[in-house]
Amino acid sequence: MMTAGFDTIAAISTAPGEGAIGIVRLSGDDAVAIADKVYRMGRKELAKQPSHTIHYGHIVDPYDGQEIDEVMVSVMRAPKTFTREDVVEINCHGGMVATNRILELVLREGAHLAEPGEFTKRAFLNGRIDLTQAEAVMDLIRAKTDRSMDMAVKQLDGNLSHLVKRLRQDILDTLAQVEVNIDYPEYDDVEEMTLQLLQEKTTMVKDQIDQLLQTAKQGKILRDGIQTAIIGRPNVGKSSLLNALLHEDKAIVTEVEGTTRDTIEEYMSIRGVPLKLIDTAGIRDTEDIVEQIGVERSREALKEADLVILILNQSEPLTTMDKELLQLTKQNQRIILFNKSDLPTKLQPEDILEFAEGEEIITTSILNSEGMDDLEQRIADLFFSGQTGERDATYVSNARHIDLLQKASQALDDVNTGIAQEMPVDLIQIDFTRAWELLGEIVGEGAPDELLNQLFSQFCLGK
Ligand code: GDP
Ligand code: ZN
Repeated sequence: MMTAGFDTIAAISTAPGEGAIGIVRLSGDDAVAIADKVYRMGRKELAKQPSHTIHYGHIVDPYDGQEIDEVMVSVMRAPKTFTREDVVEINCHGGMVATNRILELVLREGAHLAEPGEFTKRAFLNGRIDLTQAEAVMDLIRAKTDRSMDMAVKQLDGNLSHLVKRLRQDILDTLAQVEVNIDYPEYDDVEEMTLQLLQEKTTMVKDQIDQLLQTAKQGKILRDGIQTAIIGRPNVGKSSLLNALLHEDKAIVTEVEGTTRDTIEEYMSIRGVPLKLIDTAGIRDTEDIVEQIGVERSREALKEADLVILILNQSEPLTTMDKELLQLTKQNQRIILFNKSDLPTKLQPEDILEFAEGEEIITTSILNSEGMDDLEQRIADLFFSGQTGERDATYVSNARHIDLLQKASQALDDVNTGIAQEMPVDLIQIDFTRAWELLGEIVGEGAPDELLNQLFSQFCLGK
């Protein structure tokens, strides 16, 4: 058994709330022994049961003999478990109260309360998964739509790690080859050959890194959602649009747990693309951010937006506030709606020409559900032009990965510059080696403790 020898941890691994079934999960060398102290089924001992079996029984407080719950207990021995340690899962039926009691019992009998992400961290430390996969577990927990889930699953499968590990191997092979060449300087053309090899490999690895980086924008959108602001003066139809979109595509409200911000975020899925509404409460309760905080400060809020949907009422002439909003959002990626097309037209595309030259306007009657398809198609096109169906691509979405890939790409640039400037090979090798190290950080090779602690602390309890 190749575990790092941690003590035994326990936590409730089902989501908090009023679910009928709760699961208390234990992991570590004493997991089975601790479970045996509270498990009763005649004279049956979990310690004598084969691995990967499930057992019916009761959880009983060993001090006073009080029966807490009727349970099913799974016994899974290392190494074929998520953490690569002995794992016991107690499925409780008595709701959250019983689940909490059982957790208290196992803690009293010697388990430690797991920190957020500690199960996944152990899986990583015990070599079961690498860092990109651990991060995918977190993304999976938070996935908003089918597509973001797809992306996380792929990463969990190791798509990104395989690619990164292959590139690292390429670099390592090249470095080895360079060493060999340097050891045989008797051949005349060896230096030229070495430089040519370095240049070819550097370009090849850098191309692949840059390709990966090109998926970053879309990957980030799939992961975090398109930050979207719906704006317009009072009564143009903001709330109506919100409701129409929510009605069609079902809002996904996520409570982000275990992070510093205890916020509720609202997502809509538009053709599989998650829109994250900026300041939903603002739109819902007090109309919109512009009314609420004024034009000047909205400018700040709008800087954060990936997408602005600006609604104008085409049954009324353009107002000063309309003009201000057109001006305000000029730098944003935006979609302009001419709403209330069911009413007589008082506003023409020419009227806004000076604020929106060349921009396509979408005409809608939100009231009659007209133009909604155009709007959705436009959103999908803007962010996933030409590849809405492409589900096989490896995306990078994680800011940490993107940062490291950019640095690696830069290091490879330095290699090429070094070659062009005819620098000594051993100096060029330093940059090449740095690219290898940076890629290693993505998969967690040589990751420092602080990084690990910081990453895993973002998880929910029990994962
Ligand atoms: P908000 O103030 O921008 O949030 O606007 P609301 O969504 O509350 O809509 C204001 C009024 O306009 C409501 O009575 C809506 O029913 C109405 N409305 C919204 N969209 C349309 C539309 O396409 N056509 C017509 N005729 N009325 C609409
Ligand atoms: Zn409204």
